[in-house]
Amino acid sequence: MSKIKKLPLNEAKKIAAGEVVERPSNILKELIENSIDAQAKSISVYIKDGGKKLIHLIDDGCGMSKEDAILCFEHHATSKIKTIDDLDKIYTYGFRGEALSSISSISKVKLITKEALANLGTKLILEDGVIKKEESVSANVGTDICIEEIFYNVPARLKFLKKSETEWRIISQLFQSYCFAYKDIHFKLFHDDNLVFNCPAVQDLKDRIVQVWNLQLSENVLPISYADDKLGFSIEGYISNHQINQFNKNRIYSFVNNRWIRNFEISKALLMGYQNVLPFGRFPVAIISIKVNPADVDINVHPRKEEVRLLHSSKIEKAIQFSVKKALEENLSKQLNRKINILPAQVLPFEQSLQLYASDFDNENESFGSALDKQFFSAAKQSDFKKDNLLKVEQPFTPEFNLSQDKLNDYEMEELFGGPPKKIETLQLSQVSIEKVKSEQVKFLGQVKNTYLLIENADGLLVIDQHAAHESVLFDLFSKQFDYLATVKLVFPHVINLQESEINGLIPQLSLLKKYGIEAERFGANQIIIVATPVHLKDISLDDLVMEIISWLHEFENLDSEKLEIELSRKLCAQMACKASIKAGDSVTKEQVEQLIKDLYKVENRFTCPHGRPTFWSLSTGDIEKRFKRDYKT
Ligand code: ADP
Ligand code: MG
Repeated sequence: MSKIKKLPLNEAKKIAAGEVVERPSNILKELIENSIDAQAKSISVYIKDGGKKLIHLIDDGCGMSKEDAILCFEHHATSKIKTIDDLDKIYTYGFRGEALSSISSISKVKLITKEALANLGTKLILEDGVIKKEESVSANVGTDICIEEIFYNVPARLKFLKKSETEWRIISQLFQSYCFAYKDIHFKLFHDDNLVFNCPAVQDLKDRIVQVWNLQLSENVLPISYADDKLGFSIEGYISNHQINQFNKNRIYSFVNNRWIRNFEISKALLMGYQNVLPFGRFPVAIISIKVNPADVDINVHPRKEEVRLLHSSKIEKAIQFSVKKALEENLSKQLNRKINILPAQVLPFEQSLQLYASDFDNENESFGSALDKQFFSAAKQSDFKKDNLLKVEQPFTPEFNLSQDKLNDYEMEELFGGPPKKIETLQLSQVSIEKVKSEQVKFLGQVKNTYLLIENADGLLVIDQHAAHESVLFDLFSKQFDYLATVKLVFPHVINLQESEINGLIPQLSLLKKYGIEAERFGANQIIIVATPVHLKDISLDDLVMEIISWLHEFENLDSEKLEIELSRKLCAQMACKASIKAGDSVTKEQVEQLIKDLYKVENRFTCPHGRPTFWSLSTGDIEKRFKRDYKT
């Protein structure tokens, strides 16, 4: 007797359903997408028990005729494509014609639907994928579909459903994605009879952020925008500024042609744009909408169409990184690019203070060594910080206003796109910002707890963490100028005892370390001797440093030599910056603060220290006014 048996159709459908339907959120996704394809302008969703008991959707889309309503539960029933060639040009979500068929095979379905010109609508009741009842009913135009008791007939799958709270969380996140992708649709979501989201159509995505998340968050997002006409893609969206971050990535939404996608490379590009802006382990909030020609994207790589393959993926990723960096840079230069006015009574005009600054600091003819010395005030003059506990602030000065906007753009354009931008839009932007700087004053107010520096600028108050800020300055200096940093030969070479395995790991890297000023040699089987170090490391424990280097080598053991060199140099720079910078608790002089702020202005990644802590934060005048209930005007 033959061992192979053909499965009954409804059993086969249940198995096939597993590909599309794993959990309630998958069903909701299919239903919402059908409503969007049906041109709905209002979509209300009612969820019970995390979707396990009920997923009920009502839309005001085109509805279905009686014939279509019956057909739509058939396998491969679709109104969206006719042949495989149509796949290239589809703009709709559905096209496989298997969602409703699969869903109906693993749940109890009730459908009421009516087309605009029909007198009556159609009501169908299905169980096990089979129509049990069919009647004509009066109904609103559109579709009203109830999916109850999912997997009631597939216990093996039922037991894999998560707790209701978990299923609800997934549903809620999915729902939010549609709110962001379709701001012109009125979305509502109810859970266990409570209205959780009510999002009427809006013009601007920023208003959606208010509806879905909150006002405070929406006030802390920056627009991003990019278009490449030649390759036919564009990027729009909003990203959080440097003051907002999260412990997880659940408020990062990426869309390709309005389809919510999870793409590691795109997220990575976004995070790269935030490099050195967010503390370690924190994530931004972002809504990134990528539009490409339908022919340049393959949405058919995942059964639930959650992943896509993009034709110009690497260009798109670079453009995202660039746009994010640019938006953050522009926003921060607005906040930080202010002149310092040390005494409120004495505000020097811009040009005058600029001269002061130029002669004091920015002399082009200065030899590299002396410029470096000035910039690098702390390592040499760290003891000065201890001398003057009281800040006597009387002289205004002007730090260089930040032109890194131009630098960033040119550099980025060169780096990312191999050429200058087509339009020099950014130059105009920075001219505007220079004009703005000219008319604004900044005051250094004082030091709090010998740790934080208070600066007043046109927007309000900046609080700078002196250690983090200085670390950021030195890290930048070390990273860029390593070849020029002085080393000192040790009068008594330092002997370090290590295990043989540790030495064996270290030996191949000695030439690399030498490049960074650490000269070491093997000395017998279990020892190395350090004969020279960078001048800024001369006071730190060399044993600790070597042990740290060994631990970094372990950490990076899988990297190739090129990447290892990059990582090692980053770690060394960070370590030196940390050791050499002023500490919390050190008192500072006015001149040192002036120097620090000038230096900080020059650092591209000045928003966090190398360990990812913020270097400063700001409190706007508006926020201060709110706290004192003076914001009655707004
Ligand atoms: P697909 O969306 O891939 O075509 P589905 O099984 O999701 O397959 O839906 C089958 C068909 O049912 C759709 O092609 C569409 O014609 C119709 N349909 C489903 N949901 C709706 C809806 N909410 N409004 C109007 N028509 C719908
Ligand atoms: Mg569909």
